[in-house]
Amino acid sequence: MTTITETVEAHAPYVRPKRKLSEAMKRGLLGRCPHCGEGKLFRSYLRPVANCSACNEDYTPQRADDLPAYLTVVIVGHIVVALFMAVENVGGLSLWAHLAIWVPITILMSLAMLQPIKGATIGLQWANRMHGFDKGAQQEFI
Ligand SMILES: [Zn+2]
Repeated sequence: MTTITETVEAHAPYVRPKRKLSEAMKRGLLGRCPHCGEGKLFRSYLRPVANCSACNEDYTPQRADDLPAYLTVVIVGHIVVALFMAVENVGGLSLWAHLAIWVPITILMSLAMLQPIKGATIGLQWANRMHGFDKGAQQEFI
């Protein structure tokens, strides 16, 4: 005869260990593996590694897609437009002076922010077990 406790334990859903979202996103922001924080997350500017060199975490399931680019546009746009309006409000610069200042700043800020934002996005996906980052749980059910 089985007890109620034994029945509940036998049919309880698999409890996955919780992953800290802020820590994973911070590690990704710094270009480190969201799981261990030791290995590099990127093998080139925007191409993530297949597996972490330190903990062998699989990063092929990441699907950052266009989110890092959208976030970069939103952040850089708000900063550059606010600065442009502040400078324009203080003193009038010629249109060419504005172009000479804001276009390079926009390009440099975008290039500087894209990789960290992509790393944070991958950290977010890993911590929330999105896409294929939940392979371990799926294998336990089979
Ligand atoms: Zn790692």
